[in-house]
Amino acid sequence: MNFKDLNIITPILDAIEQVGYTAPTPIQKQAIPIVLDRKDIIGCAQTGTGKTASFAIPILQILHNNEHANKGIKALILTPTRELAIQISDNFKLYGQNLSLKHTTIFGGVSAEKQINQVRRGCDILIATPGRLLDLINQNVVKLNQIELFVLDEADRMLDSGFIHDIKKILTKLPKKKQTLFFSATMPTEIRKFAQSILYKPTEVNV
Ligand code: AMP
Repeated sequence: MNFKDLNIITPILDAIEQVGYTAPTPIQKQAIPIVLDRKDIIGCAQTGTGKTASFAIPILQILHNNEHANKGIKALILTPTRELAIQISDNFKLYGQNLSLKHTTIFGGVSAEKQINQVRRGCDILIATPGRLLDLINQNVVKLNQIELFVLDEADRMLDSGFIHDIKKILTKLPKKKQTLFFSATMPTEIRKFAQSILYKPTEVNV
């Protein structure tokens, strides 16, 4: 199977070819069709499996195909650390290089000023760590009322890092009707229960 068999659009296929991937990884084979079908996912996958592309590629495709929708942030990717946020951002940049979608990345530990200016310039996709996102929501810089796609990345690490309270607050700012993609390297009972509480009829993906 190659990426073309997954019904990926040409501008993204061209970008993938340029990056040099010859075939989708197991998580990509499973997850991409489900996301393109607009279904919720609960995915058990470690970093290193190609997990990031398994959500970045279909999100770019969905948003590209809805290009005439209203302005505002359409996809939110929540991740526990600055390093992961930057890696995810690099993925969106690579696969989206032939598209006109904009993404912005916000994380703590650095001044918020530059990030605030970037968000204010407008973006389709926001990649964020929970604390800084809440800050910018509270300052009315980030508005999440147009979110269509929500990714919770490394959910187990989020909960271990004590982010559960922040995540629950962020969830209250998102529209009820949205597509949620939930990824975790491990799936203990606590994580599974949390996933079930925020997902609608999810398809489970394991690699
Ligand atoms: P991730 O699990 O998202 O952190 O990805 C791990 C690494 O695999 C990254 O360096 C990606 O660039 C790379 N990668 C993702 N998808 C593929 C693919 N289909 N073929 C080869 N490498 C890939």
